[in-house]
Amino acid sequence: MKKDMQGLIKEAKKIIDKRYKNNQSVVGCAVKTKSGKIYTGVSINAQKINLCSEWITIGQAFSEGDSDIEMVVAVRKYEDKTYEIYPPCALCRELYVTYCPKADVIISEKKMIKADRLLPHAWKKKK
Ligand SMILES: [Zn+2]
Repeated sequence: MKKDMQGLIKEAKKIIDKRYKNNQSVVGCAVKTKSGKIYTGVSINAQKINLCSEWITIGQAFSEGDSDIEMVVAVRKYEDKTYEIYPPCALCRELYVTYCPKADVIISEKKMIKADRLLPHAWKKKK
C-alpha cells in the first residue's frame, strides 16, 4: 500500500513537472482506478476561476469509462521547484463523497485517508 502511495505521488509530480505553467497550471493530480490504470492531469487557472486538477483527472478516467477510483493525490508545484501535497479543497471533497467515497486520498507525504472521512455529514442529493 505504501509503495502505491509513493508511486502515485511520483506520477502527480511527473505530470506537473511536464505541464507546470506559472499562474495557469500549478497543481498536478494522479488517480489510480481499480483497473490498475493511472490517470494524470493538471489544474487550469484562469483569471477568476481555478479548476482543480482533481476534476480534470477524474473527468478523464470517467470519460474512459473507468470510474472506480481507488486512490488520488494532488501535488502543488512552486516556482522554486518545491512541491507540496495538497489536501483536497471543499469542492473536491464533495466530488469524492459523491463519486468515490471509499477512495484513499493522499493528504501528505505519509498520510492517506478515506474520502468520506474528509467530509463528514455530507449533504446528499435526494433522487
Ligand atoms: Zn479542489
